[in-house]
Amino acid sequence: MKTSLLSIILIAFLNSAHAQVNPEITKIGIPIEMLFPEGKSKALILSYDDGRSEDRRLVKLMNKYNLIGTFHLNSNKLGLTNYLNKAEIKELFTGHEVSVHSANHPFLTTLSKIDIVYEIVEDRKELERLVNIPVRGMAYPFGNYNDYLIETIKGLGIEYARTVSDTYAFKIPKNFLQWDPTMHQFGKAYSEPNKPENDKKELDLFYQTINNFIQTKELALLDVWGHSYEIGNDEKKWNETEKFFKMISNNPNIYYAKQIDIVDYINAFNNLKFSVDKSIVLNPSSLTIFFKKDGKTYSVLSGKTILVN
Ligand SMILES: [Zn+2]
Repeated sequence: MKTSLLSIILIAFLNSAHAQVNPEITKIGIPIEMLFPEGKSKALILSYDDGRSEDRRLVKLMNKYNLIGTFHLNSNKLGLTNYLNKAEIKELFTGHEVSVHSANHPFLTTLSKIDIVYEIVEDRKELERLVNIPVRGMAYPFGNYNDYLIETIKGLGIEYARTVSDTYAFKIPKNFLQWDPTMHQFGKAYSEPNKPENDKKELDLFYQTINNFIQTKELALLDVWGHSYEIGNDEKKWNETEKFFKMISNNPNIYYAKQIDIVDYINAFNNLKFSVDKSIVLNPSSLTIFFKKDGKTYSVLSGKTILVN
């Protein structure tokens, strides 16, 4: 009787001890939130496909506003009528990213494995010869892909592949080989001729999304894609493009990125080494990484270990 009373008291004591919050234990659950380079919470990717001759004017306009683009090119099309020439690629895209779009722009999902491999490796090899930089990204021609294609491109040195499935969201892609962008430039405006009402509706949605991006306080990635030939030689569309560029350029809260920069940065963030209680962090990558813990911003230089208390 005496013993059992003692056990009850002991159990009650142990329970009350467990109920108390141990400050060392609570530290473990604190989330580490990624920030973009320089501690920025927003990043912008602009990507254009096909390497058509209107890219010349587009790049000039982007350079005027200090914007960075990613250009997905078909190497076997370069030199054809209305396409860029091989000789101009390196200089034109200095400061921008050159990326794979397959050698000939076929529907890749209709091809045999060896033809898929040819389309991607041949394009990579030729673009690398032109720019003297390893080419590591891709956009699916026509946005056409399936699981078999994704499996096939693994091992070919392609680290991301952009689709054309617009999300109208600012999320970080979970699978880089199935990278759904935020939206097409100007949405579906101008998709059908002589439909001014539709154009207006689509442009309103496009600018509303841009404004939401500019105003959000959340971690946000805006990824706009398009084709320079869609602007063509229509001055109204060039003015619209300049209006869009003006809106999103030279904003101190935005990290302007090549698409591959985002891949490298996220990979480096995911490779940070934390102690169990998250109070010590080592950055084994070559990039300076920024993150938020407990509402405070930290940066870890390449190769350094810091305390994050
Ligand atoms: Zn294309």
